[in-house]
Amino acid sequence: MPPLAAAATECRLIGVPEVSFETSPSKNCSVRLHGELIVNYRLRRVGGPKVPTILHDEPPRKFEQSFELYDPDTFFLSYTACRDTLLQMLTQTPLLREFDLGADNWDIFTPGIIAMIIVDWFRRGTDQHGGVAVGIDLNLRWVMRVRIIYSEPKALLLACVQAGAVAPCQSSMALPPAAECCSVCMEDLAARVGAVRLPCSHCFHRGCILPWFYKVATCPICRRHMGKYLVAATNTPMGMFPGLR
Ligand SMILES: [Zn+2]
Ligand SMILES: [Zn+2]
Repeated sequence: MPPLAAAATECRLIGVPEVSFETSPSKNCSVRLHGELIVNYRLRRVGGPKVPTILHDEPPRKFEQSFELYDPDTFFLSYTACRDTLLQMLTQTPLLREFDLGADNWDIFTPGIIAMIIVDWFRRGTDQHGGVAVGIDLNLRWVMRVRIIYSEPKALLLACVQAGAVAPCQSSMALPPAAECCSVCMEDLAARVGAVRLPCSHCFHRGCILPWFYKVATCPICRRHMGKYLVAATNTPMGMFPGLR
């Protein structure tokens, strides 16, 4: 995906895993990660509904990867070690590793919740295995939905900032003068990071103007309509976003 599109995309990983444990014929411990991946493309419009509209759904694809556990005792006893190992495994699993698996991108369940289930199971069964992890095959199966949202408000902001950066009033300064205020929150623009200048030359904090663009594509001060920048944004490589055109 082109970098510009990536900047206007929100990725959400949604799914509920099935966790099961089997006794391995060998003394080793392993983790088997498998299931189906479904990629959904959605569109969040400026002034649109809260629930993004459907653009395109990909057919399910199977993923499967097995891992040997080199330090099973730590994996089964330490919640953080278990969670970090699971995340590492996910980033090494074909298909899944294509996506940003950062903590903010998980919905409903997280690798941390799976880690809690695993560690809890192991602690409860101490009388069976004596607290030593030997010959356990962990089976993790789930349908993973990755929701990739093309965000018009983000694309609009990106296009406006690019257009605003070459506006004559901007001169060679990277940031507006310290005395300038953000007209949304009325705070000093220099006091917080991420000041942006719109093509009409009005300046705001990025975190203040983006929520505004969720509702309407105009400048909060001069009411100038930024629709043409939105068109410019969707005519860029972002037009390649599946289902957008
Ligand atoms: Zn502000
Ligand atoms: Zn303006």
